[in-house]
Amino acid sequence: MIDIFKGYKGDAVEILKKFNIRVWGDAEIKTTRGDFSGIILPRSENDDDKHIVLKLVTGYNVGIDVGTITDMKEIGYKEAHYKIPEKEFPFTEGQPKVKLFGTGGTIASRLDYRTGAVIPAFSPGELYGAVPELADICNLETEKLFAVFSENMGPEQYKTLAIAIGKEIEKGIDGIIIGHGTDTLHHTAAALSFMIQDPPIPIILVGSQRSSDRPSSDAALNLMHAATAAAKSDIAEVMVCMFGPTSDEYGLLHQGTRVRKMHSSYRSTFRTIGDTPIATVTRDKITPIKLNYNRRRNDKKVKILPYFEDKVALLYYYPNMQSDMIYSLIDNGYKGIVIAGTGLGHVNKPLYPAIKKCQKLGIPIYMTVQTLWGYVHMFVYDTGRDLMNYGIIPTENMLPEVAFVKLSWALGQTEDMDKVRDLMMTPIADDITKREPYNGYLIYQGGIPEVEEFIKKVHK
Ligand code: ASP
Repeated sequence: MIDIFKGYKGDAVEILKKFNIRVWGDAEIKTTRGDFSGIILPRSENDDDKHIVLKLVTGYNVGIDVGTITDMKEIGYKEAHYKIPEKEFPFTEGQPKVKLFGTGGTIASRLDYRTGAVIPAFSPGELYGAVPELADICNLETEKLFAVFSENMGPEQYKTLAIAIGKEIEKGIDGIIIGHGTDTLHHTAAALSFMIQDPPIPIILVGSQRSSDRPSSDAALNLMHAATAAAKSDIAEVMVCMFGPTSDEYGLLHQGTRVRKMHSSYRSTFRTIGDTPIATVTRDKITPIKLNYNRRRNDKKVKILPYFEDKVALLYYYPNMQSDMIYSLIDNGYKGIVIAGTGLGHVNKPLYPAIKKCQKLGIPIYMTVQTLWGYVHMFVYDTGRDLMNYGIIPTENMLPEVAFVKLSWALGQTEDMDKVRDLMMTPIADDITKREPYNGYLIYQGGIPEVEEFIKKVHK
């Protein structure tokens, strides 16, 4: 059955039997795509039978296509059991009441070693069993709204979340936490910043880069920080709460419109762009860095504006981009385009005719910068001036994803392009700021001890 160029033809169970390898066995696997070693995990009910799931030493699980396997060997065996002990979440008189909405992502998942599936752990009982410290911070209620990885979040989920949060605010909750996958956390944070305006309480989005079955998981600490911020801070903004430095010294609270995932695997992946983070947070203390945030209020007033137009595109410009990219958006009925341009906000000349066509048809195009830090300046070079003549609107220092979300939100509520422009260019939650503090770029992002250590090594 083995053809060393093509691998194994049968299914996962057959191949394990053939090579005498047990589930929970520590295995070395040779494949046409390279060699792997790790623990063979039991298969989840939903997995197909053509893959073996292996837990690598790094803690990541990988699926190996049995069709690529050329040889396997068991070098050890240790059965594992894993179950979060469920305990009733205690209610403490006088503590702030916080609502946690689960949407999915790594923070909501742990590996179920009985089935090998990554499953959500979000009942209050499970959360208390896993992170009992939460009970010292607040009285927690939980509700699982979705159980998706964050690439599957979108307009419908944003709207459902905004409406559910509005209802909780009306009922008098003291703070909101949203558990969310980290990959698109900043999209949802931007969407909620526009859909939930003037909230009287903190609204905290939190995720984790590493699931709770890994020793280096950031799930528990991020949750504790988020709970502290939601229950005790006086910052009534939509914020993202994630690891600050690479050590677990403190978390950072980032404005929902100024934050971005900047590293694919570090726990300290979220960074405020174009500003400083709003505050640092530990399990018992919030230390503001910025002072011009909206303060917590006692009323239950909030504006919920759950709008979103699906036909909006974010175009990341690259040299030699062809105009058919823009023509195809026109042909497919797109109603608005955001471009992430080069430098101060540029694209090449071959795109000009397509851009002019958008202008003629009334399809708005907004310009942002790929550099992320800094402002669009379209008066400096001919290119910028030409593009503005063809109707492209510079968006100051709005981040590309934020401009994309904001344009979708604006076009979702009106077809009047002057109104859309007003909505776009009026800052709502620091999506546009007057200036970018230079020290935002340099510091306050949690990397200081590492930077100092590094500099000490090279600069003796
Ligand atoms: N892929 C996951 C998600 O975004 C990653 C995470 O949660 O960190 O849903």
